[in-house]
Amino acid sequence: MTVVAKPATQRLRVTLRGAVQGVGFRPFVYRLATEMSLSGWVLNSSAGLVVEVEGPTEQLSLFEQRLEQERPKASVVTAREFAWLAAEGSTRFEILASDRDSGKTVNVLPDLATCTDCREELFDPDNRRFAYPFTNCTNCGPRYTIVVDIPYDRPNTTMRDFVLCPRCREEYENPANRRFHAQPNACPVCGPKLEGTIEDVVEALRAGKIVALKGIGGFQLLVDARNADVVGRLRQRKHREEKPFALMMPSLEEARAYCEIAPSEAELLESQAAPIVLLRPRPGTDIAANVAHCSPYLGVMLPYSPLHHLLMEECRFPLIATSGNRSDEPIAIANDEAKVRLKDIADHFLMHNRPIVRACDDSVVRLTRGRAGILRRARGYAPLGVRVAHELPPVLAVGGHLKNTVAIAVGQDVFLSQHIGDLETLEARGAFEKAIDDLCRLYSFKPEAVACDLHPDYASTHWAEKSGLPLIRVQHHQAHVAACAAENNVEGAYLGISWDGTGYGLDGAIWGGEFFHVEGGRYERIAHLRSFGLPGGDVAVREGWRSAASLLYEVLGAESAAPDTAEQSQGKPRLDEAKVRYMLEHGINVVATTSVGRLFDAVACISGVARQNRFEGQAAMLLENEIGLLRTEEAYALAGGDWGPLISAVLADKIAGVPASLMAARFHNALVAWILEVAGSAKLKQIVLSGGVFQNRYLTERAAAALEAAGFAVHTHRQVPPNDGGIALGQAVMSRK
Ligand SMILES: [Zn+2]
Ligand SMILES: [Zn+2]
Ligand SMILES: [Zn+2]
Repeated sequence: MTVVAKPATQRLRVTLRGAVQGVGFRPFVYRLATEMSLSGWVLNSSAGLVVEVEGPTEQLSLFEQRLEQERPKASVVTAREFAWLAAEGSTRFEILASDRDSGKTVNVLPDLATCTDCREELFDPDNRRFAYPFTNCTNCGPRYTIVVDIPYDRPNTTMRDFVLCPRCREEYENPANRRFHAQPNACPVCGPKLEGTIEDVVEALRAGKIVALKGIGGFQLLVDARNADVVGRLRQRKHREEKPFALMMPSLEEARAYCEIAPSEAELLESQAAPIVLLRPRPGTDIAANVAHCSPYLGVMLPYSPLHHLLMEECRFPLIATSGNRSDEPIAIANDEAKVRLKDIADHFLMHNRPIVRACDDSVVRLTRGRAGILRRARGYAPLGVRVAHELPPVLAVGGHLKNTVAIAVGQDVFLSQHIGDLETLEARGAFEKAIDDLCRLYSFKPEAVACDLHPDYASTHWAEKSGLPLIRVQHHQAHVAACAAENNVEGAYLGISWDGTGYGLDGAIWGGEFFHVEGGRYERIAHLRSFGLPGGDVAVREGWRSAASLLYEVLGAESAAPDTAEQSQGKPRLDEAKVRYMLEHGINVVATTSVGRLFDAVACISGVARQNRFEGQAAMLLENEIGLLRTEEAYALAGGDWGPLISAVLADKIAGVPASLMAARFHNALVAWILEVAGSAKLKQIVLSGGVFQNRYLTERAAAALEAAGFAVHTHRQVPPNDGGIALGQAVMSRK
């Protein structure tokens, strides 16, 4: 007979850092410890979640395993510490009050989509929260948009003015309840209320009206997506000519009727972040053509708040749900503000009395290389951090000028703000300053330096210069690849490919077609697109035909005609063309560029696909879209990044009547071949792809596949966008000496 020794009693302390507050972690630990007959306590401290459990050693090991395996779905653990202590002889397990003193390094959580339990209650006529638009629990509900300060406790949120009723308080205080310490806990008796009815909203939508709805991260503008008239009116009033609108569908099943949805796309739609997912539309549905006519995708999201669930249950048709703003301005969040700013846009308002602390747009995600690629990082993701391999100095990174986000580096974590937008307007610059303020306050962060873009005229650079802190100026395209390398924990030397719209180069030219050999913090530019002149500088970003005119002028010399394209229009452009020709001939106001984004514009124009960008990257998007399902290995010549032979070939193809789809494919394939050429000669095993051009899925997937087939390890973005929304991370990382 084996003698079983009585297991020694020990005490284990576990400290978890990351997104561990406001996700039901303490009740989970309480239930687990109680179930396993362990004594001890759990508490939320500003430094993280701390647990001490006491019991037989084996049980403690098992506890440690189950803590990891069964922890709340919404939690993100970025660091764990374990310490074995002597037993104290404790007899019960308790949840202790928050300890507020240690440094603030706990992640603030993003807003989480309504969970299954809360949704069931919402539609259960016997439940006391039946049809209550503000229900939530520790597994779901608003977080980042209601938190004023940390630790994340009710008095530090905009729920502080709503006094819990006895029943809600009981739930809030009962560790066994799903709403234990759910800070926004509320019910129809004690919680926020709608100022208006869902029925009236549905009636307005059916009548073809534009509705402004106060959502989670700000106001949204809603219209019936099947009604082309109202979609047109929304475009007009919002000053948004062609940029696609996103849709909210009543349910996943209904979304399937409109779009092709792969299992991993369904998972994204139903995830706690509940982003807008770019999907392939099915042909012949009743979605109005002007919702997204120039895009190969439909941006679709599912209801993510109880209010949205109730609304979509009533109107079972797809709605446009777009940010409540005029184009290029931040989204409106306050009731009074919305009444003023949206009064010329919306016909009908639905507000409520739960304040929103900060604007947070809906995030945009698209499946790339089989996983989620974030294109706009906001609700559901912000302000989660990216953990990097090395400790960083306490630096504030202020991002770029377009698609701005800011970031702070706290040890090994870089916390990123939500997408703020283009810093063109006073409102946007206000939101930018507020985001900096927010991050610094929420993390008690005092920056010792500011990282900014090299570009002398970015609003973010100007702010940095006036901050009074030491400046670290970071080259735009180096920041792009640094961000991608950091989030993929790339160690050692790599080839950083930074293809972009525009960015300020080290030589003062506009870069955007760069290859860097990166090693030990050094960025050597080993290849780039052959330089060409951009007539009018920044104007050429919108007027893509100017890039075409310049390249044709280079290739054909004086014989070049103004590029004739499908969009050739009335009178004025002709005049502009003469002017541009004069500029090129005399080298007046012509800025040198190596931007692949501008090469896209030129090819889109010469091939007759698009003459201008009515929104950033439109021509490139149309050119990618043109390929459709065509698959070919044919490619134009782009050896050494010399676009000369390529431009001649595109022009010859256009004259010969080659279909635009084939021209588009040959162009994309030429870019892939050039990447392979440079990668082959650079002899670096690891390749990092970043920059706005890599929002192009065809290019990214083809390039990655070709490189992998050739034996390279390829890294693309995971947590931040490849566009300028990812710049701040790169700036923060590059501040490390
Ligand atoms: Zn819930
Ligand atoms: Zn209540
Ligand atoms: Zn960029």
